[in-house]
Amino acid sequence: MTSEHPTDRTGPVIVWFRDDLRIADHPALHAALEHGQPIVAVYVLDEESVGVRPLGSAARWWLHQSLRSLTADIEALGGRLLLRRGAAGPIMTALVHETDASAVFWNRRYGLPERTVDTAIKSDLRASGIDAHSFAGSLLFEPWTIQTGQGGSYSVFTPFWRACTAGPPPRAPYPAPDSIPGWAGILDADPPSSDDLDSWGLEPSRPDWAGGLRAAWTPGEASAHALLQTFLDGSLPRYGSERDQPAQNATSRLSPYLRWGEISPCQVWSATQSAQRGLTGTALTSATRFLTEVGWREFTYHVLFNAPDLATKNLRPAFDAFPWPPVDQEALAAWQQGRTGFALVDAGMRELWRTGSMHNRVRMVTASFLIKNMLVDWREGERWFWDTLVDADPASNPFGWQWVAGSGADAAPYFRIFNPNLQAAKFDPHQQYIRENVPEYGTDAYPAPLVDLGETRRAALAAYESVKNPS
Ligand code: FAD
Repeated sequence: MTSEHPTDRTGPVIVWFRDDLRIADHPALHAALEHGQPIVAVYVLDEESVGVRPLGSAARWWLHQSLRSLTADIEALGGRLLLRRGAAGPIMTALVHETDASAVFWNRRYGLPERTVDTAIKSDLRASGIDAHSFAGSLLFEPWTIQTGQGGSYSVFTPFWRACTAGPPPRAPYPAPDSIPGWAGILDADPPSSDDLDSWGLEPSRPDWAGGLRAAWTPGEASAHALLQTFLDGSLPRYGSERDQPAQNATSRLSPYLRWGEISPCQVWSATQSAQRGLTGTALTSATRFLTEVGWREFTYHVLFNAPDLATKNLRPAFDAFPWPPVDQEALAAWQQGRTGFALVDAGMRELWRTGSMHNRVRMVTASFLIKNMLVDWREGERWFWDTLVDADPASNPFGWQWVAGSGADAAPYFRIFNPNLQAAKFDPHQQYIRENVPEYGTDAYPAPLVDLGETRRAALAAYESVKNPS
């Protein structure tokens, strides 16, 4: 690796942690360790660089726990994680100066504002003679490497995934390092300063609304691997048949761990490949289905890379003319708080508020209800999910909303309007999920329906026709 990243300087190597809060299968850390110099590990809370989207509240809670866990994991191997807050560019310049670093390594990000920040930092560092290098750490397939026959990007999942799986398989994961030689005892200077994590105020205090999140989740790399193993040993064979039923706990629940990079998709891929050896029939089909869902995550990043405004702009420009009525704030609050009078919608929205997550089938139903029965612009729902999901993801969240709206890539047709009552009967037939989340369901205390499903369906279709056939 040293010959691949030549440097005549001997200072430490800075490893800049971002959406990859782990130490195993971390290509940038792996390469830095091969350098043989001490490691300066840093995380930068960047709320200042232009265009970088501020994290939502649930995501900030997760980040706090994740950084605490990563700090402990790095310290256990002899290193130290520095915390700095501010615009990443000036912080990197200052840190290189303070530590006399010879190189800065990181794993790539895929949103345009983040890429712009990274590209500027890389060229500034290189102009000053510092080796700067980025690695592929957060996806199975780098978005620009998957191309159509004409050299373009994909807008439909099936051919995209076929192209991904036709090429060389994802690389084998790197093992966790045995040690991370840090500052102490190696360099003859004071260690660089670090912020105190608590001073960042990522966790809610007044009021502390995170009790449900704490009960539902244990962020961190070790938990991610334990969860993956539990899933592979338990639910994997029934994933295909039960993944749509929210009461069955048949899915992996890995999305926040993947979002924050506490586990890498290469690790998930490799462990699933091993687990599926020996499986046959529906169990094998289930394993393939699971990996295909991981493929949807890849697709959302492919789409984000090629359409950076995914969270704000309709992928299909025809939707720009959609006649959204003014938002009824009271109705919006009823949706947010799970008081619509439609049990599956309310169960999903309350699960989200309580745990920072929601089952995929119910995400589709609640999103469809907001957009198509309440005629609220998908961007309003995307923002609520962004603030409340622990897995709030810059690619999968806006992609999911545009998919439901019909304005996105390979999207559900607009005229497919989920009936929340039929969805509940099909996917929660014993009302187990509903009763878990809406205890007063079926009593007088439960709210009356907010809308008439038939009327609102007709209004949504009429609005859609006006976009399809503008007069
Ligand atoms: P599993 O079924 O176990 O799947 C394994 C992994 O595959 C997931 O952890 C996830 O990384 C990936 N995956 C599965 N389904 C999808 C999908 N449809 N799109 C993209 N990746 C997928 N997912 C997020 O990670 N972050 C989001 O912010 C997000 N917002 C969404 C918003 C809407 C409106 C919708 C309809 C879907 C959204 N999803 C999002 C996708 C999906 O709902 C979650 O990834 C899934 O519920 C996570 O549960 P799991 O880890 O048990 O998934």
